[in-house]
Amino acid sequence: MQRILNYINGEYLEPVSRGYLEGYNPALGSVYSEVPDSDERDVELAVKAAEEAFEQWSNFTQEQRSDILLRIAQGLEARMEEFALAETNDQGKPLWLSRAMDIPRAVSNLKFYANAALNLNGEFHKTDNHIFNYTLRSPIGVVGCISPWNLPLYLFTWKITPALAMGNCVIAKPSEITPMTASMLGEVCSAAGLPKGVLNIIHGLGTKVGSAITAHAKIKAISFTGGTKTGAEISRIAAPMFKKMSLELGGKNPNIIFSDCDFEKTVKISAAAAFTNQGEICLCGSRIFVQETIYEKFKISFIEEVKKRTVSDPLIQSSKLGAIASKQHFEKILSYIELAKQEGGKILLGGEAVKLEGRCVDGWFIAPTIIEGLPYDCRVNQEEIFGPVVTLVPFTTEAEVLMMANSTPYGLACTIFTENLSKAHRVAAKIESGIVWINCWLERDLRTPFGGVKQSGVGREGGFEALKFFTEEKNVCVKI
Ligand code: NDP
Repeated sequence: MQRILNYINGEYLEPVSRGYLEGYNPALGSVYSEVPDSDERDVELAVKAAEEAFEQWSNFTQEQRSDILLRIAQGLEARMEEFALAETNDQGKPLWLSRAMDIPRAVSNLKFYANAALNLNGEFHKTDNHIFNYTLRSPIGVVGCISPWNLPLYLFTWKITPALAMGNCVIAKPSEITPMTASMLGEVCSAAGLPKGVLNIIHGLGTKVGSAITAHAKIKAISFTGGTKTGAEISRIAAPMFKKMSLELGGKNPNIIFSDCDFEKTVKISAAAAFTNQGEICLCGSRIFVQETIYEKFKISFIEEVKKRTVSDPLIQSSKLGAIASKQHFEKILSYIELAKQEGGKILLGGEAVKLEGRCVDGWFIAPTIIEGLPYDCRVNQEEIFGPVVTLVPFTTEAEVLMMANSTPYGLACTIFTENLSKAHRVAAKIESGIVWINCWLERDLRTPFGGVKQSGVGREGGFEALKFFTEEKNVCVKI
């Protein structure tokens, strides 16, 4: 049994309650770790440590802070294999994916923001020959970062790094479902020379630790990634306290396939966009709209392509889909498959849990599932499932597909497949979404703004946006 501890003031500490939650390996369906059941008392200790550390950290030069972040990146890179295995055991994703995506991306996040912070320019406005304005940016102080379980270290570092780079001290809460790699990161930070109290990692339930972070008067900004309902709850508490908030929330992303697409590429990319990480990426394309003239052809090829995506023990190299991160989420996904049947959907592939043999016999696995015959406005096509379940919906015209694609309360990401560039740009402009990919999916340039519209979020991460979020601006006007 691995016992996880909180990381406060540079030390690993038991939670004040001395209570622990059960941490599961989802591929085995069994408990393998103890996760601190922390509460507002642990958050209080962390805030005290962060406040004390702020004076020193915020007075470091930008280069000193960036050097430390780069050393953390190097420390993480040196332990890549260990972190990848820990991520897979905690989250259920294939090990090769942790190696190829999650941990390398965490390293990239650290390197990117360490460098970007050095290149963040100040602003200057000349009003006339006698008056000019310059804008100062200073760190906010103590900030809160709350992250989800689907891309644990990837999203944890995506939040904490810009905050640290700009001189803030952080109280961070990873999901209690996948706390392992964030916990291990504390060791890397200490070894890299991050001063005590600059980063504090508190584990536990969202309803105890997350809400204590949200409600703490001395935590002046909240950067949150997670579900839309949780985002609304955080806003309810933080908005009247006038905290800065960045909210990256759920999605129900359309994948729009026109008849003039590059067919073979579109089939392959659509399968990846649907089922990578068991469909547990907020950017996965789960509503696949196919122009009716190629609908049947696409359906047959897509099913054949998805059949190649085997569900297996995540430690096996050929595994394409690993385990679902928690039993609760596993049951939620299965309940949506049942709902799809009730709503008149036809299961074309999958549609059930997968029982593996050997060490994974009790794990939580679901076959990649393709459903057709559902109206665009039924619950299955409107609500976020966040698992290996997609629907196929035919369309005839551009106007019709735009109406259906824009019909959900979400607006995070969209994929468009067509060889007609004018059409691609026209649809991209009209789609209600923060991120659009044309003829590709999940191509990420960390300099670009990242986030959603409607109920998919408020604010943007990525690039200089995230760095600016973690600062207060002050305009100084000078008359000569
Ligand atoms: P949740 O909203 O359930 O949880 C996210 C984090 O918030 C967890 O650390 C959770 O803790 C914590 N939390 C829960 N309740 C509260 C509360 N009342 N106050 C403060 N914090 C709280 O999301 P999931 O972890 O289930 O993640 C899946 C969701 O995240 C999906 O909707 C997905 O679309 C979205 N997501 C969005 C992304 C984006 O960039 N837009 C990227 C990735 C995911 P605990 O786990 O302990 O409950």
